Amino acid sequence: YVKVNQFAKSFGDVDVFKDIDFSIEKGEFITLLGPSGCGKSTLLRCIAGLDNVDLGTLLVEGENITDLAPQQREIGMVFQSYALFPNMTVEDNVAFGLKMNGFSKSKSRLEAKKMIDLVELAGKEKFYPRELSGGQRQRVALARALVVRPRILLLDEPLSALDAKIRKSLRQQILNIQKELNLTTIFVTHDQEEAMLLSDRIFLMSKGSIVQQGKPEDIYTKPANEFVASFMGHYN
Ligand code: ATP
Ligand code: MG
Repeated sequence: YVKVNQFAKSFGDVDVFKDIDFSIEKGEFITLLGPSGCGKSTLLRCIAGLDNVDLGTLLVEGENITDLAPQQREIGMVFQSYALFPNMTVEDNVAFGLKMNGFSKSKSRLEAKKMIDLVELAGKEKFYPRELSGGQRQRVALARALVVRPRILLLDEPLSALDAKIRKSLRQQILNIQKELNLTTIFVTHDQEEAMLLSDRIFLMSKGSIVQQGKPEDIYTKPANEFVASFMGHYN
């Protein structure tokens, strides 16, 4: 369903990642896990088209989308820091992508309302981001990413700015929505416990390479090398 071939990216002399190869099935929940600075966010940005790769191809449903503009890729992305429009209501934030794609005002409103209900924010349509909690803002960001019915959902540490209790409830909510919509998802985190709990498969990244791909229990019990063993060995 999604196929990344030989992705490579550098900034000047610095290789951020290279030889990145993976395939993802429709509806899979993949966690891209690895320490700070290993290249996770840059890889997601390249998949979303917010950055360009130097080498490699990205196929979705057999279509080569490597050179498409972000809005043509049908990929939704949620960032660590909400990135909502502060001067727009919840409803307008969520409907934004639809209006950009030429949907009528009434159709946009209807679709936005569906997604606002899905993330359990009914009643908050007229609120501004500053009037919401961190968890609520992140749910607005999720609704905004989902409203265009993306073929892939990319989540870059969407929970890391939230406190522990909210984090746990929101990650369960994300998983429920992901299953309900059968969404092909790549979730970025550096939290092993989160990766173990959520993922169909984990891609473990170190210094710009994916060092192991597999089911959570396999990564945990059959680490490919010392790095994987020590990274997965301790829940902290
Ligand atoms: P974290 O877990 O801290 O978010 P990460 O795995 O997401 O880390 P990236 O943000 O992808 O890491 O950064 C990977 C490397 O690329 C880092 O060494 C970073 O300094 C470098 N890098 C990222 N963006 C740029 C940029 N725009 N210009 C130059 N170097 C960059
Ligand atoms: Mg990052």
